[in-house]
Amino acid sequence: MLDVPAIRRDFPILDQTVYGKPLVYLDSAATTQVPECVIARVAEQYRTGNGNVHRAAHRMASLATDALEEARKRVAAFVNAPDEDCIVFTRGATEALNTVAGGLRESIGPGNAVVATQLEHHSNFVPWQQLCRERGADFLCARIDGAGDIDLNDLARVLERRPKVVAVTACSNVTGAATPIKRIARMAHDAGALLVVDGAQAMRHGVVDVQDMECDFFAFSGHKMCAGTGIGALYGAREALERLAPCEFGGEMVDKVTLAETTYSALPLRLEAGTPNYMGAVALRAAMDYLEQLGRTEIAAYEDELVRHAVDSLARLDGVRILGSPKRRCGCVSFVAEGAHPFDLCALVDKMGVALRSGHNCAQPAMEAFGVAGAARLSPAFYNTHEEIDAAVACIDRALRMLRAGRETR
Ligand code: PLP
Repeated sequence: MLDVPAIRRDFPILDQTVYGKPLVYLDSAATTQVPECVIARVAEQYRTGNGNVHRAAHRMASLATDALEEARKRVAAFVNAPDEDCIVFTRGATEALNTVAGGLRESIGPGNAVVATQLEHHSNFVPWQQLCRERGADFLCARIDGAGDIDLNDLARVLERRPKVVAVTACSNVTGAATPIKRIARMAHDAGALLVVDGAQAMRHGVVDVQDMECDFFAFSGHKMCAGTGIGALYGAREALERLAPCEFGGEMVDKVTLAETTYSALPLRLEAGTPNYMGAVALRAAMDYLEQLGRTEIAAYEDELVRHAVDSLARLDGVRILGSPKRRCGCVSFVAEGAHPFDLCALVDKMGVALRSGHNCAQPAMEAFGVAGAARLSPAFYNTHEEIDAAVACIDRALRMLRAGRETR
């Protein structure tokens, strides 16, 4: 069991008031907070070993290079990649997914198809849609069912086109639906497609094992797993990574440059043009150490409990509709309320100290499936408490009453 009071001491940011009210931070699907040990590890690196990575003979550069390469090994172990050369550092999930879409551009053309799902965040939807538009290929979308799960029959239907790629999220940032990745991997591979998994929301929800998932690519962001912004990674199975042409060119990714031509470095550096955010990688490694030390399955089980608590409490509020009822919901719950715009609701609860997110959450196709333009989203992390869920739901109830009363007097 997690010692939540002790964990909260690792996150001093949580111990403050906003607008005179205790902060209740329930927007961790957008960004998680960063524990002291990660901040300290970054500060220590800046104090003792900062330089530009690779190719320098001096001590500071080699300390920075070691830090980057140790982090790469850590990431590989965390997701159970076969080796660290399968890990490409990126700014986050978005850059990782664009690296795959852009890297495959020469292999996709007229007559080909790419499949995404209606559950995708825009970052695993738009790059594919755009690629298809540019290359004259067909962009197909598998629908979601009424519960907000991917409709596997509809997926089977679009797979009949034998697409080159299937792009799917491991966990929705709208409904929290965890998708049956292994099953989808088999379906995609039977259809001859590469499977690209958006793991941005999945990294905190149990152990991620990219080999067990049988995915070809897996993308994630550090800031959704306590590492801060500007760092993420792309895992690729070796044969799949070999198929990616670089999209960015410059230093670090080249082997030999002459007036006539350029040859590229081996993987993974070939896909990491320019000076990498090695300090972000240091933070990511520290965050992974921290999460592992707490226990990844324990974190997931406790977060599931918090989400269940939130769903049950929100469902009891008058006129509140929860988006979807997926088979397994992890990390977040989105909802709309009669007589209250999600933005007004979230702005009002913010004044009560409660941080929620409102809007389409970069998932307009999913919102459209639910017949709404936007929603409010509550997303706890392992540093939240059941008392905070109660406090937030009480504030939501109060805000809804205020907004509805305001409407009546208008
Ligand atoms: N995929 C999902 C499911 C997300 O929730 C997000 C961010 O909210 C992303 C991708 C994009 O992540 P980033 O903006 O860190 O690249």
